[in-house]
Amino acid sequence: MAKIFCIANQKGGVGKTTTAINLAAGLAALEQRVLLVDLDPQGNATMGSGVDKHQLNNSIYQVLIGHCSINDAKCTSESGGYDVIPANRNLAGAEIELVDFEHRESILSKALRLVESDYDFILIDCPPALSLLTLNGLCAANGVIVPMQCEYFALEGLSDLVNSIKQVHANLNPDLKVIGLLRVMFDPRTALQQQVSEQLIQHFGDKVFKTIIPRNVRLAEAPSYGVPGVVYDKSSRGAKAYVEFGAEMIERIKTL
Ligand code: ATP
Ligand code: MG
Repeated sequence: MAKIFCIANQKGGVGKTTTAINLAAGLAALEQRVLLVDLDPQGNATMGSGVDKHQLNNSIYQVLIGHCSINDAKCTSESGGYDVIPANRNLAGAEIELVDFEHRESILSKALRLVESDYDFILIDCPPALSLLTLNGLCAANGVIVPMQCEYFALEGLSDLVNSIKQVHANLNPDLKVIGLLRVMFDPRTALQQQVSEQLIQHFGDKVFKTIIPRNVRLAEAPSYGVPGVVYDKSSRGAKAYVEFGAEMIERIKTL
């Protein structure tokens, strides 16, 4: 049965999608069966996996509003070696359309039950907001992976996210926990980043993943080719770091 993880941080541009795509590809390279769910109307995880968001018959939007089954929306990332439930801008309408639905926060959770046994990992790429979409992600997941840049304001946003996770844990999904904080776009030469990284370890201890994802231009280039960075340049530091992170996740789920 798959372990389900949300990649979430309400702050924009912190590396959620890059982490979702490359963790999916890293895990696939380690022979895990992976499904990546794009839960962001921007559709970046879709495009970055090599699936054209403009040419979709079905997407996560149709799944959420009940117009198709999750299996009917499934695509494959040929380069990444994993499956994708894609998204595009239609998904922005779901926030409003779902308002009248009963149990509107647990629609994704129900939909995923149909495919849970087909995968080892299901990864959900969340939008940069604590919205109904993100709430659906949190209700469906066993845990949250929080990518963050080691900058001063990163810590402030973190407490909002941790509070939301606590609320969902208490009221909607007792299974949910923070799996870990992932330091991304890390530049060890910056004194501030080193300091924030040390503070993170002081506050969160074991919850900080051992793997550090460096700032690496190859990871930023890869999406324009519709290929995960892990595949685009296997020997780059960024690619190696994400495969290492995949191995750390495989170890981590043994303790869940
Ligand atoms: P949003 O909140 O808009 O969904 P996000 O949190 O998903 O954004 P990404 O899209 O993954 O963030 O990353 C933001 C930008 O930073 C992108 O241009 C991406 O290519 C770049 N980026 C992410 N990680 C790295 C890295 N380790 N090294 C270099 N560039 C990176
Ligand atoms: Mg994103």
